[in-house]
Amino acid sequence: MKLQKYSIGTGDRFGCQGKAQLKAIIKAQEQGIDIAIVWNKSHREHLITKTMPDDVLREAQAAVREFNWKGNYFIDADHIDASNVDLFINSSNYFTLDITKYIGKKSSDIEIKRFIDNYRQYLGNISLPLIKEPLISDRKQVKEIAETYLFAIKKASELYQKIENNKKQNNFVIEISMDEASDPQFPVDFLFILAAIAHENIPVQAIAPKFIGKFHKGVDYDGDIEQFAKHFKILLAIVEFAKQEFLLPDSLKLSIHSGSDKFAIYKIINAEIKHFDTGIHLKTAGTTWLEELNGLAISGNEGLEIAKEIYLNAYERLDELCEPYSSVIDINKQKLPNPIEVNKWTGEKFARTLTHDKSCPDYNMHFRQLLHLGYKIAAEMGFRYKNALKIYSKIINKKVTRNIFERHIKPLFL
Ligand SMILES: [Zn+2]
Repeated sequence: MKLQKYSIGTGDRFGCQGKAQLKAIIKAQEQGIDIAIVWNKSHREHLITKTMPDDVLREAQAAVREFNWKGNYFIDADHIDASNVDLFINSSNYFTLDITKYIGKKSSDIEIKRFIDNYRQYLGNISLPLIKEPLISDRKQVKEIAETYLFAIKKASELYQKIENNKKQNNFVIEISMDEASDPQFPVDFLFILAAIAHENIPVQAIAPKFIGKFHKGVDYDGDIEQFAKHFKILLAIVEFAKQEFLLPDSLKLSIHSGSDKFAIYKIINAEIKHFDTGIHLKTAGTTWLEELNGLAISGNEGLEIAKEIYLNAYERLDELCEPYSSVIDINKQKLPNPIEVNKWTGEKFARTLTHDKSCPDYNMHFRQLLHLGYKIAAEMGFRYKNALKIYSKIINKKVTRNIFERHIKPLFL
């Protein structure tokens, strides 16, 4: 099963926006841009929202039926590992194997030596056809890379084998993620990581590195944009090189996690993927939930009440909510508005504070990030929350479609 050039991971915390999300993809298609839609949900999200992977499949199928969608769509078992893969095997056709927790664990000396010997022709100066500067490495450096990543990739291979044995006919997509690692992967690391993936015969079609700079959930890129541009371009060139050299799948591409709202770098990404004539996968899951919340707030009445209640609870339970997401958020508690104040706000004020619009003086990225994590509170509300989504669906659905199409697809792919 081949992943096409452009794809977008929409996710959907509460399973109510599948149709609104697919609508954004249809709008893109009407403008001549083919994008595969990927409904991703991690085990962490399933635990918090008390859903099962089957629920995601049902939601996707309903959306696809509604619009008679003939394009590709996927159900992504996002950030899974050996401890939870079984839950996802039947309902998923896209598996994101997360190797982060194994990074830094060492393989045996024999395996490391065998790997380096196998790829010794890539030691020294390697010129990549698509960029000017060569990559330079030596045996010592590659030994360190192998010591850091080889074991983790072996674990991915075991996980892949398990999926392959259960799914048969190879009707699924494999992504490997390391975006939640503590350090970014630099070009030489990345080249040998891809070599190791090829060495293990994993048919990877998307790979999510940790890029330079910060990719926090639901807010803009935080870092040196020129440095990012350089890093991104080299990694793209390495992917193209690795496909040829290591015989990795032709559809292999970079995957950008916590990709939503990285407006500051979308122009660069757009220009570079066109320059290299390649694609990317962008994961945006969490912002759909923020659009729901935004829509509830401006709807007023019960909708606004729910939005305020979620903020109040999230504020009180900040540490607990931040814990599972510590590597992908940056909330300054001092900059959060006091819930007593928020309680007096109009729906418009709440929405302006939440909406990611840097030109608006009310926008508060700390407020936005805390609410990004606040879906746990909404999940605990159960029926009350989901019912509100139904009552105010007209406003909310429009916002969800608009967010994905106007703010993500357009700047990235058009
Ligand atoms: Zn991720």
